[in-house]
Amino acid sequence: MAKKTKGNKVLVTLKCSECGTRNYYRFKNRQKKYKLDSSKYCPKCRKHTEHKESK
Ligand SMILES: [Zn+2]
Repeated sequence: MAKKTKGNKVLVTLKCSECGTRNYYRFKNRQKKYKLDSSKYCPKCRKHTEHKESK
Protein backbone atom coordinates (compact mmCIF):
# COMPACT_ATOMS: atom_id res chain seq x y z
CA MET A 1 0.00 0.00 0.00
CA ALA A 2 1.24 3.42 -0.91
CA LYS A 3 1.02 6.02 1.75
CA LYS A 4 0.86 9.69 1.05
CA THR A 5 3.96 11.70 1.70
CA LYS A 6 4.01 13.64 4.87
CA GLY A 7 5.09 17.26 5.12
CA ASN A 8 8.84 17.04 5.50
CA LYS A 9 9.58 14.75 2.61
CA VAL A 10 9.74 15.72 -1.01
CA LEU A 11 9.91 13.57 -4.08
CA VAL A 12 12.69 14.67 -6.38
CA THR A 13 13.59 13.41 -9.79
CA LEU A 14 17.11 12.62 -10.82
CA LYS A 15 17.66 13.63 -14.38
CA CYS A 16 20.50 12.66 -16.67
CA SER A 17 22.61 15.73 -17.43
CA GLU A 18 23.51 14.44 -20.89
CA CYS A 19 20.21 13.33 -22.44
CA GLY A 20 17.72 14.74 -19.93
CA THR A 21 15.95 11.46 -19.22
CA ARG A 22 14.47 11.13 -15.76
CA ASN A 23 15.78 7.84 -14.49
CA TYR A 24 15.49 7.91 -10.72
CA TYR A 25 13.12 9.09 -8.05
CA ARG A 26 14.15 9.84 -4.53
CA PHE A 27 12.55 11.00 -1.35
CA LYS A 28 14.38 13.85 0.21
CA ASN A 29 14.01 15.44 3.59
CA ARG A 30 12.94 19.00 2.99
CA GLN A 31 14.70 20.36 6.05
CA LYS A 32 18.10 19.10 5.06
CA LYS A 33 19.96 21.03 2.45
CA TYR A 34 21.91 18.62 0.41
CA LYS A 35 22.11 17.84 -3.24
CA LEU A 36 21.33 14.48 -4.66
CA ASP A 37 23.56 14.93 -7.67
CA SER A 38 25.35 11.72 -8.29
CA SER A 39 26.72 9.44 -10.91
CA LYS A 40 24.07 6.95 -11.97
CA TYR A 41 23.54 4.56 -14.79
CA CYS A 42 21.47 5.97 -17.63
CA PRO A 43 19.81 3.32 -19.82
CA LYS A 44 19.49 5.75 -22.70
CA CYS A 45 23.14 6.80 -22.75
CA ARG A 46 24.07 3.25 -21.73
CA LYS A 47 26.70 4.48 -19.33
CA HIS A 48 27.10 6.23 -16.01
CA THR A 49 26.38 9.91 -16.24
CA GLU A 50 25.91 12.78 -13.83
CA HIS A 51 22.33 12.95 -12.58
CA LYS A 52 20.91 16.14 -11.20
CA GLU A 53 17.79 16.73 -9.22
CA SER A 54 14.86 18.43 -10.88
CA LYS A 55 11.23 18.95 -9.99
ZN1 LIG B 1 21.36 9.90 -20.36
